[in-house]
Amino acid sequence: MADDKKLTPRAKDFSAWYNEVVLKSEMADYSPVKGCMVIRPNGYGIWERMQRALDDMFKATGHQNAYFPLFIPESFLHKEKEHVEGFAHEFAVVTHGGGKKLEEPLVVRPTSETIIYSMFAKWVQSYRDLPLLINQWANVVRWEMRTRLFLRTTEFLWQEGHTAHATHDEAEAETRQMLGIYRDFMEGYIAMPVITGRKTDSEKFAGALRTYACEAMMQDNKALQAGTSHNLGQNFSKAFELKFQSEAGTEEFAWNTSWGVSTRMVGGLVMTHGDDAGLRVPPLLAPIELVIVPIYRSDEERTLVLEAADNLAKSLRAWDRREASRLRIHIDRRDGMKPGAKYYEWELRGIPLRLELGPRDIAANQGVLVRRDTKEKRSVSLESLGEDVADTLSAMQRDMLAAALERREANSVRTPISYDAFKELMAGKGGFVYAGWCGDAACEARVKEETRATIRCLPDEEFRSAVAPTTCLRCGKASTDEALWAKAY
Ligand SMILES: [Zn+2]
Repeated sequence: MADDKKLTPRAKDFSAWYNEVVLKSEMADYSPVKGCMVIRPNGYGIWERMQRALDDMFKATGHQNAYFPLFIPESFLHKEKEHVEGFAHEFAVVTHGGGKKLEEPLVVRPTSETIIYSMFAKWVQSYRDLPLLINQWANVVRWEMRTRLFLRTTEFLWQEGHTAHATHDEAEAETRQMLGIYRDFMEGYIAMPVITGRKTDSEKFAGALRTYACEAMMQDNKALQAGTSHNLGQNFSKAFELKFQSEAGTEEFAWNTSWGVSTRMVGGLVMTHGDDAGLRVPPLLAPIELVIVPIYRSDEERTLVLEAADNLAKSLRAWDRREASRLRIHIDRRDGMKPGAKYYEWELRGIPLRLELGPRDIAANQGVLVRRDTKEKRSVSLESLGEDVADTLSAMQRDMLAAALERREANSVRTPISYDAFKELMAGKGGFVYAGWCGDAACEARVKEETRATIRCLPDEEFRSAVAPTTCLRCGKASTDEALWAKAY
């Protein structure tokens, strides 16, 4: 292979490796508009599978999809004070339309709380109209100065769930439920383990009462906030007069939640599983699960092998025991390209399984099956290939999660650590550090200034250390909370 095809090793420059994987595997490309990206079929196929799985999970919990406009009257954004302060510096604003100056400028949505709750206010009158459980799949725009493919782009794709409830407790239960769904999806589909917990006030969503997040560790030991779920309290319902008549006949403001995940998860997938040969896509999210590479030397052999490959693909699809989704198979028919070059390309693209099939294999009713995650190669019988492929894909899905979990735990510190040792760790290899926090935002801010590490979350019970920390990581005062500290994307 030509050297320009080789990727920079992760250990040498993780960030360069990341960009090269995304570009060379043809997941995305830079666009003529700075900060925006083009998502190519190899990347979009993964996003589509993410969407499909999440959408089913949302619907199974009673949510319905709807669509709201891209433009929001500027005055709407100003109705909730914290919200506008949090987002104003990222607004893209339309001032002209149809050649005329608009009476009121329109903001291209950075998130849709304001326009959605203004509509909820029209639709909700009585407690009987609650809960209102809506999700929207959309694009949003936040004018970012420093962008990175999938991780931070000016325009990105996401889903935003918006709900209205009669009580605080119902809204809180919804907020937690959706965080749990995100976790199930990230672990079950992306094979990306996450720590869930609450954000500190300085890291919470602008306008929320409380924000919860899923935090994953990437291979450079930095954290990626992969999804958030907010209990918005009554902040937006008060700003938009979202009221209802209670069962007792009194007029009350509704309680809202919002929650979202985005194409950022695709970047998380790359940084969780990629290796020096390229991408490794967890089978459940792979647009192609099995690629068949025919091997031949003559036209005669070519006809024979392709025919066998076609028959094999047909019987595999028909056999598939997973009723709901047929095995996703591709036969690489490209002529004039050596099998080795094809292997290289499919490895770069992270396709979970490759079947190498030549004339001698066909005569013996066998093939060579190669796993992308472990690169394990073995001879397999074509007779029982369906069973074999299905079992191997399930094993890969499990093994990839287990490997990511093991890596995260190996790079997590749960024993008491001095602030000097912490600074040294953050300046070096980084990682997740569980340590005490005094609850003071100023102390949290100083840690960020001095180390670039932040409190990723105040972890949920199951992630907390067996022995709770007693003192704050930085100031040594009594600890009010155990915090997860790390540098983040
Ligand atoms: Zn402190």
